[in-house]
Amino acid sequence: MNLIQLFKSIKPFVMPYKWLVLATLTLTLIGSFMAQVNAIVLDWTVDSINDHIQAGGKWGKEAIEIVSFIAIVLLGKEALSAIITFAQRYFGEKMRIFVSKDLAQAVIEKVLTFRVAFFSANDNEAGKLQTRIDQGVSSLSRTVQNFFIDLLPLFTSAILALILMFKANVWVGLTALCIVPIYFYITYRQAVKLKGWRRDMRHFRELKSHGIMNIIESINVIKSFNRERIEGDKQLDIQNRVTNNQMETRKVSFFFDGLKSFMQQIGTVLIIILTAYLVLDDYPGMSIGKIMYHVMLFNNVAAPINQLQRIFDDMNDALIYAEGFFGILDSDQEIEPTGTYKPEKVHGNFEISGVDFTYPNGTKALHNINMKIESGKITAFVGLSGAGKSTIVNLLDKFYEPDCGSIKLDGVDLKEYDTKFLRDNIGLVLQKNHIFDGTIAENILYGNPNASIDEVYEAAKKAYLYDQVMALPDKFDSKATLLSGGQQQRIAIARMFLKNPPIIFLDEPTASLDAIATEQIKNSIDAIKKNRTVIIISHSISQIIDSDTIYALQNGRVEQGGDPDEVYKQGGIYKDIVDASARSLNIEKIAKAIEGDNKKETSL
Ligand code: ADP
Repeated sequence: MNLIQLFKSIKPFVMPYKWLVLATLTLTLIGSFMAQVNAIVLDWTVDSINDHIQAGGKWGKEAIEIVSFIAIVLLGKEALSAIITFAQRYFGEKMRIFVSKDLAQAVIEKVLTFRVAFFSANDNEAGKLQTRIDQGVSSLSRTVQNFFIDLLPLFTSAILALILMFKANVWVGLTALCIVPIYFYITYRQAVKLKGWRRDMRHFRELKSHGIMNIIESINVIKSFNRERIEGDKQLDIQNRVTNNQMETRKVSFFFDGLKSFMQQIGTVLIIILTAYLVLDDYPGMSIGKIMYHVMLFNNVAAPINQLQRIFDDMNDALIYAEGFFGILDSDQEIEPTGTYKPEKVHGNFEISGVDFTYPNGTKALHNINMKIESGKITAFVGLSGAGKSTIVNLLDKFYEPDCGSIKLDGVDLKEYDTKFLRDNIGLVLQKNHIFDGTIAENILYGNPNASIDEVYEAAKKAYLYDQVMALPDKFDSKATLLSGGQQQRIAIARMFLKNPPIIFLDEPTASLDAIATEQIKNSIDAIKKNRTVIIISHSISQIIDSDTIYALQNGRVEQGGDPDEVYKQGGIYKDIVDASARSLNIEKIAKAIEGDNKKETSL
């Protein structure tokens, strides 16, 4: 990205505030004119007092007039300056803050429209994405300030001071003018040298925040394995690289800053010598006041150029961060695809034919999948972890698109469906259900924001959550994140009941529930399967055995499919899994225990 592209990209965000920009700009311009007043007044003061002394004048009416005039002009100018500075800073800051809000909101809204594949890419992990957005917003809003508010007045101030110097004396003007390009060149070299380091810094910042997020998410595991040291060391490596980068950046900056400051001093000394020579040589129009006058004007030329360094740095930062930021904002190919098909009613019969699927990171998760999933039945996906069960559900929910083959719902390709409509008709309960910050009621309402509180209670009852929530001090107004894993799982199930969709996908919905809750939820699910399509991914043998159809997957392929009893009889992976589950449950002993208990009861 170059400066012109950057300018074009930012412009739409500044347009809504053009009056604010104009007001700030005008005030800043007035400010840069006023900055020259001090030099002019001082020149006049020194010369007037000098003339007064030369003429043998003492403290008296004339001297009082001179001093009063100076006092009024300087104080008046300062008072006006204070008002202007306040207004200018306030408006400038207001614009920066508003633009920064709009940039942040625009990127959040954009990211929400992206396909799920975008978030699985390595480069877009949560911490990295967050840093890219944060840095983008802050550096771009600084650029807005630089571009639209600071730059023009800075140049005006420098040019104005230069014109005054030329007006006072051509040689003095030329001396100042000679220093300026050298100054520019040093600033430019500094920026070029720093560019690579700054780019690396962006990468390190992303790594750092990703690392910290990882630690927070896995803190229990880290502590239980006593791996604080190892995690600390991993971060130390990033810290060392950041430190190294910072030190290099500082070294380059300090070297060039020193060089510039030296150049400025050379300029000041040259101007003092030149003016002193001209005064002593009785050059026309030269007086002793001119020494101060020229030095102050030269400072007015150098100060904005000093600022230019900051602007240069900011712009370079902005160019670096803008790539990542506008990369997100302008990346329309990441937007989730949608069709237009919205049938009156969704029956829920899926047909998957010849589907292959590869994740964005290159993992091929599905090979030639063929399945029929019918409405009014419970279809179970069985297989070892990593077999591809959740991946199929991801495809059915249109989170990803298959590499080849087709997925049809009620005879129409999923691609044709309006994505929002499709998802309105699907209830998804995942193993790890994200509970949002907020109350239990709010979290259940996520399933249907228009539902009444009675409907929320009803859904909670179906998910066997109601009694537990009513026992809490704040009942349905308690914070949902404080609930146990199993209770959070039931919130997700209640959410699904409230949504009441014709298609339901349950990805290990009872994984974190106790045995009694599992049985209760199983009953609820059995009760709602009528006229619905239910797909369940489960390791729970009872849920699998009770399903109408099973598909056994292995390494991304469907190995077996059909009626559970018949598939079991065929032998193979399904039988292996059921037998292993039965052994791990120690069914024989359980049966004996139950039998013994029954005998005791009958003998009583
Ligand atoms: P299952 O649900 O049967 O346990 P998955 O469908 O989750 O299995 O995973 C199938 C394969 O796809 C695995 O090899 C897994 O590592 C991989 N996989 C799952 N999710 C992703 C993802 N977001 N990005 C890359 N690979 C993934």
